Amino acid sequence: MFPPDQPDRRTFLAAAGWLASTAMSKDVPLAPPDKQSADAKMPDPPQKKAGWAVVGLGKLALEEILPACALCKRSKPVALVSGHPDKAKKVAAAYDIDPKAIYTYENYDTLKDNPAVDVIYIVLPNSMHAEFTTRGVKAGKHVLCEKPMAASVAECEGMIAAAKAAKRKLMIAYRLRYEPFNMKAIELVRGGEIGKLKSITASHCQNTEAPNIRLSRELAGGPVGDVGIYCLNACRYLTGEEPTEVTAIAHQPKDDSRFKEVPESVAFTLRFPSGVIATCDCSFGTDESRRYRALGADGFLQLDPAFPYHGLRLTVQKSAKISEYKLEEKNHFAGEMDHFSECVLDGKDPRTPGEEGLADVRVIAAIEEAWKTGKAVAVSK
Ligand code: NDP
Repeated sequence: MFPPDQPDRRTFLAAAGWLASTAMSKDVPLAPPDKQSADAKMPDPPQKKAGWAVVGLGKLALEEILPACALCKRSKPVALVSGHPDKAKKVAAAYDIDPKAIYTYENYDTLKDNPAVDVIYIVLPNSMHAEFTTRGVKAGKHVLCEKPMAASVAECEGMIAAAKAAKRKLMIAYRLRYEPFNMKAIELVRGGEIGKLKSITASHCQNTEAPNIRLSRELAGGPVGDVGIYCLNACRYLTGEEPTEVTAIAHQPKDDSRFKEVPESVAFTLRFPSGVIATCDCSFGTDESRRYRALGADGFLQLDPAFPYHGLRLTVQKSAKISEYKLEEKNHFAGEMDHFSECVLDGKDPRTPGEEGLADVRVIAAIEEAWKTGKAVAVSK
């Protein structure tokens, strides 16, 4: 409105009380671009974002997934699915989601009529993953499903077939495959940093308080699918192999009402084709333990803790010398969501597709058979 340095402009600013309080005067001209910092970086133009529907507004969705959306470059929440409309309305308001984009489990299929939704994130109890993934891909949406993929091998196979038939992408939410520490561990172990890999020990234990979906057999809870799966998945991603045989024992105390339906603790071993032997334990009845150690002919790599959302610590010990890898921590959920958005928007294949979830569930089925029968069990192909 006022060209710089014209009396009218200064009069106007002085009247507004600005001239005295700012550095602006005729003696301090605005710096032309060639007098400004030469290395000031222009921001990249914003990239297209995929629209996400989050299904099941429980602890994980509310405390981790939705907050992580603020860190996403390619993903934004645009719809919610919940059995509790009042909660969903509050969440929608907090995340600037159109209240008309709140769905129930009954009208979930009408997501097909919402073009703003590209991806559905299933954050429901494990027993509901198969049904809501299948309905989601049939509604024409791509699906990211939480771990464990489903309650049985047959359910996982059905989900993969449904996604293929609908020509939609299916990814399983293995967040550790989208963060730097576990990715570095894979690179080091497979790259021979500790010599030939011989064995892995892994532990993922916590105290799980009732009530909790994890303690319900009907909702497909239990320590192996909930926390043991991190040990199992780590053994698979560190070796790059599929286990051929498992053994397992479980403990289900009679004097703790939490464990009427699922075991408290399960210990299992995995035999890999290269000869690597993995020893893992998981529990819902101990203080926290979330770590693994890969032992090679020339040293060992340790991630302790390995599985939480923050504070991962990676060390390698060779000939009694310990080196720590200091890496920049990244939000696991933002990493996995942006990866899947990229797959959807740019036509790429996800790093952890349905087949990855199925491979874990095959081993989980064998582990259950092993602790129930007390026998070594071959993993089905
Ligand atoms: P919660 O029990 O906190 O939340 C589950 C939500 O599912 C509920 O809040 C509810 O949402 C909805 N729901 C629908 N039907 C039922 C039912 N019959 N019983 C209970 N809840 C129901 O579970 P979490 O958020 O901890 O876990 C959800 C999923 O995420 C699980 O598959 C779990 O394995 C996975 N997970 C993954 C983690 C990771 O790091 N990748 C970490 C934690 C969990 P509403 O009220 O909106 O209907």
